[in-house]
Amino acid sequence: MLNFNVLPKIRNERFNICKSCKFFNGTFGTCGTPIIGEYIELDENTKKHYKEKIQLCGCVMRIKTKLRFASCPAHKWSAENFSANEIRQLTDFVKSIDGKSKLDADQLRTLFNWKSKITNKPEQISQCGSCIRDLITELKKQLGDIYNPDLLKSEAHELEIQMQSLIRSKK
Ligand code: SF4
Repeated sequence: MLNFNVLPKIRNERFNICKSCKFFNGTFGTCGTPIIGEYIELDENTKKHYKEKIQLCGCVMRIKTKLRFASCPAHKWSAENFSANEIRQLTDFVKSIDGKSKLDADQLRTLFNWKSKITNKPEQISQCGSCIRDLITELKKQLGDIYNPDLLKSEAHELEIQMQSLIRSKK
């Protein structure tokens, strides 16, 4: 099964930054209000000369910090080895092929080029349907489709911890 998560060392570095961030919601382990997030005015760590307005993502950071293409909305940590422009291109490409029963030669070449860029080695183009589906599913997960059923399955333990913390907070 494919797994393009960042290395545990990177994930831990990111998560430690979150835990010391003033926008981290320690009760729920989320960036701001769970699911919703909220707009805030940045007054720190911004390269801009004016107060930047950003939206916190509301994500469960235990999970989001593992994702290769994820980044902090307040610019405190970033996606690994991919620029924002490349991530936009990949997102558009994945959207254009998602749900298609068959990919043409160009689409297959592009798909496996993205895989090569991620794994940092030349990847053979495969015609195997389940391999292509797995690859698209993993790319969607890494692009932040964190409510995807496949991800929920693979992250069941993390979600259980999260649910227990939510239940405890309601008592
Ligand atoms: S993602 Fe960024 S803004 Fe959100 S809690 Fe983590 S460090 Fe803070």
